[in-house]
Amino acid sequence: MRPAEFRELGRSLVDQIADFLESLPSRPVTRGEAPSQVRALLGGRTLPRAGSDPAALLREAATLLFEHSLFNGHPRFLGYITSSAAPIGALGDMLAASVNPNLGAWVLSPIATEIERQTVSWISELIGYAPDSGGLLVSGGNMANIVGFLAARRAKAGWDVRKAGVAAREGKPLRLYTSAETHTWVEKAADLSGLGTDSIRWIPTDPDHRMDVAALRREIERDLRNGDRPFLVIGTAGSVSTGAIDPLEALHEVSRAHDLWFHVDGAYGALAASLPELEPEFAGMAAADSVAVDPHKWLYAPLEAGCALVRDPAALRDAFSYTPPYYRAGEVAGEEVLEYRDYGPQNSRGFRALKVWLGLRQAGREGCVRSIQEDIALAERLLLGVRAHPELEAVGRKLSVTTFRFAPRELRGGTEAAEDYLNRLNAEIVARLQDGGEVFVSQAVVAGATCLRSCVVNFRTSAADIDAIPEIVARAGRRARSALAPERLQDQ
Ligand SMILES: *Cc1c(COP(=O)(O)O)cnc(C)c1O
Repeated sequence: MRPAEFRELGRSLVDQIADFLESLPSRPVTRGEAPSQVRALLGGRTLPRAGSDPAALLREAATLLFEHSLFNGHPRFLGYITSSAAPIGALGDMLAASVNPNLGAWVLSPIATEIERQTVSWISELIGYAPDSGGLLVSGGNMANIVGFLAARRAKAGWDVRKAGVAAREGKPLRLYTSAETHTWVEKAADLSGLGTDSIRWIPTDPDHRMDVAALRREIERDLRNGDRPFLVIGTAGSVSTGAIDPLEALHEVSRAHDLWFHVDGAYGALAASLPELEPEFAGMAAADSVAVDPHKWLYAPLEAGCALVRDPAALRDAFSYTPPYYRAGEVAGEEVLEYRDYGPQNSRGFRALKVWLGLRQAGREGCVRSIQEDIALAERLLLGVRAHPELEAVGRKLSVTTFRFAPRELRGGTEAAEDYLNRLNAEIVARLQDGGEVFVSQAVVAGATCLRSCVVNFRTSAADIDAIPEIVARAGRRARSALAPERLQDQ
């Protein structure tokens, strides 16, 4: 593609994207099309033998995406913990892809590596983490947590686990401790690392969904008596279902007392530690050995961007570095350099940092804090709106997660059959809302009850969007109720 053609196609694409972003509020969140319908749009073709005109291709791709996507940038997208993407991140990604540095090695990415280093350090500073910490950007929260997990395994196994493997030494299997509210990354980590999911001790939670510290102590002591080898305690700062924050300070004390690695999964919530009014809730996080944070959540970076932070950066080198002869030693012009391939599982690495760095600079600390405060205020506003609606029942609100149910008074029997019906009804409402396109929320099970769950990680959501939700949900609830009559359910 010649520069003149690139210029023309690029301008026209940027124009289309700007129109698309402007039109977001008037579009449905999703079309709820069937997978076969969506697949049919692409035809069952084999790879075309001949090439195509790039102008036509870009027009076609833009139309496909604008007309058949779910828009997490939509002001009424409040599902899971997926954020709206800041437009500066999209421009940053284009710039990053155009220069295309490889951040596996410093010589291949001089300014890009230094931008990643600064980005990681700013994220650490923003959440009040250790000033001498290190870390790197990865694909998301799962990988950031897995990086912390592998650093813990290397540091605390008590033998050279990278060389000898995880097979228990002297019959001492490795054990880790986390609450039942932890995201599923922990099962993937236990599995991928060779420990197996049986190595996870699921510690119960209190009524606020926070880890029960007394139960944690008992479980560690029991494992020690049995000759097992505890190595890791995982706390969550902002759980996926309810936004709960574990008692991090107490978890840190228990970890220190037993010389265990303390990791905090702050993929969603850690960035809220930058809010002065929430600082006390995150006390203890600064003392963690590692923390996972997701810039593609509350920093509004476009997917993908996760960040693994480690108190002692040497722990990452210890966990990941190998130095084969085909790599230059980590030195340039007589100075030591950061070789990111030594800090994580990836070798070639893209320039994820640019979109995050641009977003951080555009907003500044004040902008980052304010946008999180606004999201939390909207979540509280939704809670109040739900409380005021006669057919809805508020369950709770923590950080920007609000949980609630459709539960008209006459259905709240309290019996097992009544609860069972409400659970089915609310699951049906979530499914209808997710396909309907008016507002997108997800589902959570809180203390056995199926709930609707809204999570505001969206700078486009307004108070008016929030105020419309209770009645939209109630309407969907009435329809679901007539479709799912209790008599019919009992027959099944
Ligand atoms: C989102 C999330 C994850 C997973 O992060 P991805 O970016 O989706 O990989 C893990 N833990 C928590 C608490 C999260 O909110």
